[in-house]
Amino acid sequence: MTVTTNGGTREHRFVCALCGDADRALRYDCARCGGPVLVDAAAVTAGDLGPAGLGARGPWRFPALLPRTETRVSLGEGDTPLVPLSFVRAGPRPVFAKLESLNPSLSFKDRAMAVGASAAVDRGLHGLVVASTGNAAVSAATYAAAAGLSCTVLVGSESQAAKKLDACRALGAEVQEIPGDYSAAYARARALEGEGWMNVSTTYRNPLLAEGYRSIAFELIEQLGRAPSAVIVPIGAGPLLRGIERGFADAVAVGRAPRPAALVGVQAARVAPIHAAWVRRHGSPGAGGGATPAAGGPTLATAIADRLTGYESHGDLTVAAVERTGGAVVAVDEESIVEATRRLAASGIWVEPSAATALAAVGSGAAAIPGVHGADASGGLDDDGPVVLMLTGHGAKAPALPAA
Ligand SMILES: [Zn+2]
Repeated sequence: MTVTTNGGTREHRFVCALCGDADRALRYDCARCGGPVLVDAAAVTAGDLGPAGLGARGPWRFPALLPRTETRVSLGEGDTPLVPLSFVRAGPRPVFAKLESLNPSLSFKDRAMAVGASAAVDRGLHGLVVASTGNAAVSAATYAAAAGLSCTVLVGSESQAAKKLDACRALGAEVQEIPGDYSAAYARARALEGEGWMNVSTTYRNPLLAEGYRSIAFELIEQLGRAPSAVIVPIGAGPLLRGIERGFADAVAVGRAPRPAALVGVQAARVAPIHAAWVRRHGSPGAGGGATPAAGGPTLATAIADRLTGYESHGDLTVAAVERTGGAVVAVDEESIVEATRRLAASGIWVEPSAATALAAVGSGAAAIPGVHGADASGGLDDDGPVVLMLTGHGAKAPALPAA
């Protein structure tokens, strides 16, 4: 499980997204202004993307896209299947599903946790602490076990994550349920992070983690034989989307894509702070505009139900990433989420409702989502450009849908 060479290769610094203050030591927020911290590294070049180490797969096939680590903790994450969805088209465009649900712990988070666990081993830390709506918790427990680290999981009681918590316990993690929502669990994780523990809460809290998502852009280009027109990404805070955005920027820089894919963030209308921020800046895309934000009530899309309470600026990082690609942020209602989950299951693809929001977005009535229904990111209508749905998490860990 743990290899002591062939980790990432990029020398990097940790840089504040707000004031630019930089440091070589890992930090979770800016010492000067409290802003979120991102990894900053030299631009990748074509020469950097040579052969990877023996047995490398997924993100480890592209070590030049990863922060430098001596350790590689891997369970075979990444290189997930891309399958055509014959029952749906986005106008003339074919639609494909990227089955992130088939990662080792059944969600996309494994790409990030492999990097986090590797960095924790490098630093000689005791364990991983994670605030999670469930998927990150199972992933952290999985990769802590693989790395021989301890794991403490903090989950908000609103997250309806019983099956996910069972998985964490089975993997040897200590589980603490915190009254309230994800943000409450997140605040507790911040209080615990420190000597001996790495915080792997994926809400941009640990700047190393989203780097594990960059190689997704390269996988998609390989699998499609071309760059997609758009990639639809379910988002809580959105580090997955930002990681993919960085990957397409890398792909453009080394000549593997003519332009970045339009990235479309999708949220459940009931918990949609980033969609609300997007609408304030840009208005709703198209006449339909997707769902209008609905007040109150829990969403079935628990894995992306992040209100960003206390770290609102993290949502700005995601909005900026979407803007750089010419994409959009949309919200979908509960009825369309249930319908999309059932439609995918009826075609043999069992995912959780949060993942199915990506399919719901295609049919959301947002008539002019860039790269999906309308012009692509370059402003032209490239009819052949495929649309990719990031199916972020498996159905096996999710609560059953309400009866039809
Ligand atoms: Zn700062």
